[in-house]
Amino acid sequence: MQYDYLVVGAGLFGAVFAHEAFQAGKSVLVIEKRSHIAGNVYTEDMEGIQVHRYGAHIFHTSDQAVWDYVRQFASFNRYINAPVARYGSELYNLPFNMNTFNKMWGVVTPAQARAEIDRQIAAAGIQTPKNLEEQAISMVGTDIYEKLIRGYTGKQWGRPCNELPSFIIKRLPVRFVYDNNYFNDTYQGIPEEGYTAMVEHMLKGVEVRLNTDFFADRAGFLACAKKVVFTGMLDAYYDYCFGALEYRSLRFETEVLDCENFQGNAVVNYTEYEIPYTRIIEHKHFALQCQGGKAVSKTVITREYPTAWRPGDEPYYPMNDARNNALYEKYREKAVGEPNVIFGGRLGMYRYFDMHQVVAEALRCTREELHG
Ligand code: FAD
Ligand code: UDP
Repeated sequence: MQYDYLVVGAGLFGAVFAHEAFQAGKSVLVIEKRSHIAGNVYTEDMEGIQVHRYGAHIFHTSDQAVWDYVRQFASFNRYINAPVARYGSELYNLPFNMNTFNKMWGVVTPAQARAEIDRQIAAAGIQTPKNLEEQAISMVGTDIYEKLIRGYTGKQWGRPCNELPSFIIKRLPVRFVYDNNYFNDTYQGIPEEGYTAMVEHMLKGVEVRLNTDFFADRAGFLACAKKVVFTGMLDAYYDYCFGALEYRSLRFETEVLDCENFQGNAVVNYTEYEIPYTRIIEHKHFALQCQGGKAVSKTVITREYPTAWRPGDEPYYPMNDARNNALYEKYREKAVGEPNVIFGGRLGMYRYFDMHQVVAEALRCTREELHG
């Protein structure tokens, strides 16, 4: 037993745990199967622009402790996410707010918007929403559902909205004010030097081995540490003994363009089902200096294509429907019987966690582990 802890995965969960354990005087080895640290929050420099290789990542939280924690490792800009949804040639502000309602129906006051939504909900005859389609209609009515939700969600998750759980759409705020801030949280921003630098600071002093897959030498890795923190796929850890959990994957297509400003916003969603990508990110707009001062003559954009997940693909999203949650529960019960392995993060806990939730969970876990 060479190490106190073996951490599998150098994403946010693994990095927070490794940092805390190292600071507490423990010996830690982090292994990561990819060629870089930071997991899905990885950013890299292209043409002087911080590019989010695995999709747009905006940090947001109302948890003061989490906000204070991450700011030890990075200074955050004051970026506020305000995506635009494109349906044909029509552009709508997100999340659903008075700007969206005004564009959709020409209504001007909150009372007019409320009345129109209530009329559409009543016409749809939904009492208690039983799936994402009914949930969406009961939040914003049928027009917005048809133009901005149905196609986007169908392609994002590879299933029709009436076969998806409601919680997915409940993530989005609905507001009767003219406010395009996508999140309700108190704090929001993006690390000025990128997420990779933030995670690098977390892992300072910790031994990290890249291009190293836990499953390539499972027995050897288990033997090298007293305890294991596993942030890969829980079902893979148990050789899929109860069956495979389902995920949704993505394909990212990144291009450098010889133009200064491609779409005028960091995130533009394409809500029609027929367009195979869900969004185009223009990375330079995440850095506020690009919006005013510092001009960069080129721009980098990424199209995000949702894809079916097959073994070996990147499991970007857990499919948290009833069937998969029940299956996860069986794995979780098995994991309880194994006190020397801690399962953490989006894949280890099979939860649609945002970054702040992963940090909070990793801190909770380290407190319990290191301080009883
Ligand atoms: P990961 O980042 O997946 O890290 C796990 C690591 O373990 C990976 O690096 C993986 O390669 C490694 N690993 C897995 N198996 C093995 C193995 N067998 N051996 C060795 N290494 C292994 N959150 C927000 O808060 N705001 C956003 O705007 C946002 N946008 C997102 C957009 C997209 C497209 C996606 C997919 C997610 C987004 N998220 C966002 C969520 C965010 O990415 C996650 O909350 C966070 O990255 C999860 O961290 P993690 O450590 O749990 O997992
Ligand atoms: N959504 C939608 N239209 C949009 C944006 C989002 O229908 O223009 C739905 C879609 O089902 C998506 C969910 O809202 O999965 C949550 O959106 P969010 O932006 O939080 O998704 P993520 O960033 O996690 O992919």
